[in-house]
Amino acid sequence: MKYIFITGGVVSSLGKGLAAASLGTLLELRGLRVVFQKFDPYLNVDPGTMNPFQHGEVYVLNDGAETDLDLGHYERFTNCVLSRHNNLTSGQVYENVILRERRGDYLGKTVQVIPHVTDEIKNRIHEVSDERTADIVITEIGGTTGDIEGLPFLEAIRQFILEVGAQNVVNVHVTLVPYIKAAGELKTKPTQQSIAKLREIGLQPQVLLCRTEHPLDAELRQKLSMFCNVSLRGVIEARDVKHTIYEMPLMLNAEGLDDLVCELLHIEAPPPDLANWRKFVERVVSPKKQVKIAVVGKYIDLQDAYKSIYESLTHAAASQDCGIDLKLIDAETLTDGVEGHLQDVAGVLIPGGFGERGVEGKISAARFARENKVPYLGLCLGMQVATIEFARNVCGLEKANSTEFDENTADPVICLLDEQREVKAKGASMRLGTWPTKIAKGTVAEKIYGAGEVLERHRHRYEFNMKYRKQMDDKGFIISGTSPDGSLAELIELRDHPYFLACQYHPEFQSKPNKPHPLFKAFVQACLANER
Ligand code: GLN
Repeated sequence: MKYIFITGGVVSSLGKGLAAASLGTLLELRGLRVVFQKFDPYLNVDPGTMNPFQHGEVYVLNDGAETDLDLGHYERFTNCVLSRHNNLTSGQVYENVILRERRGDYLGKTVQVIPHVTDEIKNRIHEVSDERTADIVITEIGGTTGDIEGLPFLEAIRQFILEVGAQNVVNVHVTLVPYIKAAGELKTKPTQQSIAKLREIGLQPQVLLCRTEHPLDAELRQKLSMFCNVSLRGVIEARDVKHTIYEMPLMLNAEGLDDLVCELLHIEAPPPDLANWRKFVERVVSPKKQVKIAVVGKYIDLQDAYKSIYESLTHAAASQDCGIDLKLIDAETLTDGVEGHLQDVAGVLIPGGFGERGVEGKISAARFARENKVPYLGLCLGMQVATIEFARNVCGLEKANSTEFDENTADPVICLLDEQREVKAKGASMRLGTWPTKIAKGTVAEKIYGAGEVLERHRHRYEFNMKYRKQMDDKGFIISGTSPDGSLAELIELRDHPYFLACQYHPEFQSKPNKPHPLFKAFVQACLANER
């Protein structure tokens, strides 16, 4: 088994996750099997309880683990399928160590960071090192070198390398080489200091991934190489991508990254076949047409909050050789009428969300899409608001609502199931992960999926109230997907509408560059048809 560890220095937000995912893409295209792991030094057990301002999107895995959005990059960029073992937080590490201490596993001993906490971390690396499924484990360490919280992870890696042998490991350090305008120069000092910090802990990177706005010239590379004790070939330029994150693997390949990594790991693998990837990138960069789609959400100013949705739209659009002109609309601004905001868009997408803020604006947007026959895709909360809207304005249930927003509503078209009512804890207490959906015959959904049953990922508490099914169906609101026993509504569509689909699950977690999700693809097709 071979190992790659990815650390970050100088500042956060350098795109370590994307760098890790891109390296994984290249290795996979060389015929190697990769698996990823993310270590997050914060004390939350998982990011499920953090709000999008703190953390961006919570990415949900098949097994229901609520994880860091970097795991989304890993799954999108490669074929790996991850589980809760692939995201370790300090919160989990300490939770385990303390549980063991109480159980008496360390009886007689003083429990300490070294070796007990570091052992816990090393065990996790071993746990995902399954030779039957992977050749290389890529582990990304969240945070920035020098953070106090990160120290146990770095110490664990130092020990781990000693145990498995340096010839089986590559350390990649993602760093910033800032440009100082007044001096007209790129500066290497922050990187030097970051590397010095790593070496203090006993870690020596073999690769420096230099995030920079300007090209690194020979002299600068030489300087970085010398001061950081990294070979000249190991100094890799990672310029800001021009158009799309999917350019990153191509750029890193051109810099020789995957060649060098294979060499350092003593792996023989043919050069990667980048043809399909390149084609995809070309379609994203220079599409033949454009389509304007509105996303009506609560965290519109936050680039990371709806990451997987934006990526899914990109994948779907590229498959139609079209680009997406995204119109991001803050749902709270829609309370004074939607026409002005939505009349110029070809489609409306409403993402998932929690809490009452902005909900009435989303309901108005769903109404606009229904009445004006504008293609609509509702995801999770997006299905719930479409349900409330239809109940209120078509079925005449004026007070219809979700009990999430009005506990005592006369018509709870969306409500909690009995088993959720008793749950008080917030962490990992939702309906999470992959569940099967049975698709009804003769529906639009059946045509789109071309299957009778599909597996999709969930993250929600509230459900469609089946008491209203008949009444709403009579008016044209069809439940086209349910749980296999028929008790839970999973997917709805409107009878007299070109494309009005909404699901209780999150299809955005299963879309990839050359494999767009069927619901997104059909939505983009419908939007294109609506543009003409
Ligand atoms: N707040 C809703 C629920 O809990 C929707 C959740 C979501 O959109 N992810 O059911």
